[in-house]
Amino acid sequence: MKSESVPGLAAGVHRGSRAWPGVTGGEWDDWRWQVSNRIASIEQLARVVSLSPAELHGVEECLKTFRVAITPYYASLIDPLDPHCPIRQQAIPTRAEVSQGQDDSLDPLFEDTDSPVPGLTHRYPDRVLFIVTDQCSMYCRHCTRRRMAGQTDHAPTRDQLEARLDYVRRTPDIRDVVLSGGDALLVSDALLDYLLGELRSMPHVEIIRLATRTPVVLPQRITPEFCRMIRKHHPVYVNTHFNHPNELTEEAVAACERLADAGAPLGNQTVLLRGVNDCPHVMRRLMHGLLKARVRPYYLYQCDLSRGIQHFRTPTSRGVEIIEHLRGHTSGLAVPAYCIDGPGGVGKIPVGPEYVLSRSPEYLVLRNYEGAITSYREPPPYVAGGERCETCGRRHEEQPGQGIAAILEGKRTSLEPAEMERRSRRPQAK
Ligand SMILES: *Cc1c(COP(=O)(O)O)cnc(C)c1O
Ligand code: SF4
Repeated sequence: MKSESVPGLAAGVHRGSRAWPGVTGGEWDDWRWQVSNRIASIEQLARVVSLSPAELHGVEECLKTFRVAITPYYASLIDPLDPHCPIRQQAIPTRAEVSQGQDDSLDPLFEDTDSPVPGLTHRYPDRVLFIVTDQCSMYCRHCTRRRMAGQTDHAPTRDQLEARLDYVRRTPDIRDVVLSGGDALLVSDALLDYLLGELRSMPHVEIIRLATRTPVVLPQRITPEFCRMIRKHHPVYVNTHFNHPNELTEEAVAACERLADAGAPLGNQTVLLRGVNDCPHVMRRLMHGLLKARVRPYYLYQCDLSRGIQHFRTPTSRGVEIIEHLRGHTSGLAVPAYCIDGPGGVGKIPVGPEYVLSRSPEYLVLRNYEGAITSYREPPPYVAGGERCETCGRRHEEQPGQGIAAILEGKRTSLEPAEMERRSRRPQAK
C-alpha cells in the first residue's frame, strides 16, 4: 500500500518518526507491522506519554485486570503535552479502571446469556452478533466487551467458528449477520473471505455487517486487496467507531474512502464519553467530519454498565442535550440515534429528546428544534391499509407480531413480567 502523505511532514517521514525513528514508511504503512509493534507494556508507554509516578502506579494496578495495546499509529495521535487529550484517554490505562461502580457488571448486555452457541448472540428476531475474534489492535479503555475483548488476543478455533456458522445456516429467520469481536478485521483476509463466502451461500442471509475500529486505530488494515475481497460478497456494510474529530486524520479518512469506493455503505457508532466527547460542539464537528468521509452517523451510545468504565459515564441528560443541539440545527444525516443498550439483554432503546407535546383523537401537538409549536390534524376514521397485506398476502389479523406491536395489532391487551408478584397471588398460580 502506498504511503499516505501527512501534512506538515516531509516525504519519507511518517507520523511516527518521532517515537519510532528507525522505522521506514513501508513498515509504518503495513498493518501487520502495526499489530506486531503495538504498545503493550508499561515500558513501551514511555515512548508516547510521560507518566508521573502516581500515574505509573495506576497503570500497573489497571494492568492486573485489563490488557493494554495501542497501535503505533494511534499512539502517534496522542498529544504528549495534554493530559486530557481525547486520544490518550481512550488508549492509556488509568487507576480509575480499577474502581468498580455499584451497577457495574461483566456482561450487562447479557451477550453471553443470549448465546445459543458460544460467541454468537441471538437477541433480536432477524439478526445476530457473530464474534470473529476477541483481538483488537487497540484496546479501548471504555470497551463494553472488555470481559472478553483481548482475553486470548487471537482468533477462535476453526471448530468454534464452524459452530457459529452452523447456527446461522440452520436458523432461517436470520437475515442480517453482524461480524464483530474484538475487531472483525483483525483476522486475515483469507479467513474473512471464507466466512463471508459461507454466509453468502446461505440464501436467507441478506446482509452482512463488519463491525470494526480499524479505520480509526489501524487505517493501514484497509488495503486494496481487502477492498477487492469484500467486493465479492456484497451487500457488506461496515460499521466503525469514531469518537472524536481528532481521529479523523488524513489516513483514517482515506481508509473510509477506500471502503466507500469498494461499495461498502459505512456507518459509525460513537460512545458518549465523559471528558472525551461529551460536548455538543465536539460532537457536531465529529458528525460533520464523518459525513465528509462518507460515513453516516448511526448510533450514539450511552456508556454501558461494564466494569471499570464508570469514570467515562455521563448522565443520560447529556446525550439528550447533544441530540437537541443537532436535530434540526444541522443535516439530518449528521444526527445519530441516541440509544441506551439496556441491562439484561433488552437491546438498544432510543432515548429523547421528546418532540410530542400532547395528543387528542383529533390533534397531535408537536414542537420543533426552535421551540416552535405546531399541530397535525389526524385523518378521518381510519382502518390500516387494505384487507390484505401486499407483502405476505395474509389478512392483517393473521400476521404475527410480538411485544408492543402485538398490542397495537389487537393480538393481546397486556404484557406481564414472569416474576410479577401479583401473579403469585392468583388462584391458578397456587
Ligand atoms: C447491536 C446489536 C445488533 C444489531 O442491532 P441494530 O440495531 O440492528 O444495529 C444485533 N445483535 C446484538 C446482540 C446487538 O447488540
Ligand atoms: S475496538 Fe471495540 S471491542 Fe475492541 S477494545 Fe475497542 S470497543 Fe472494545
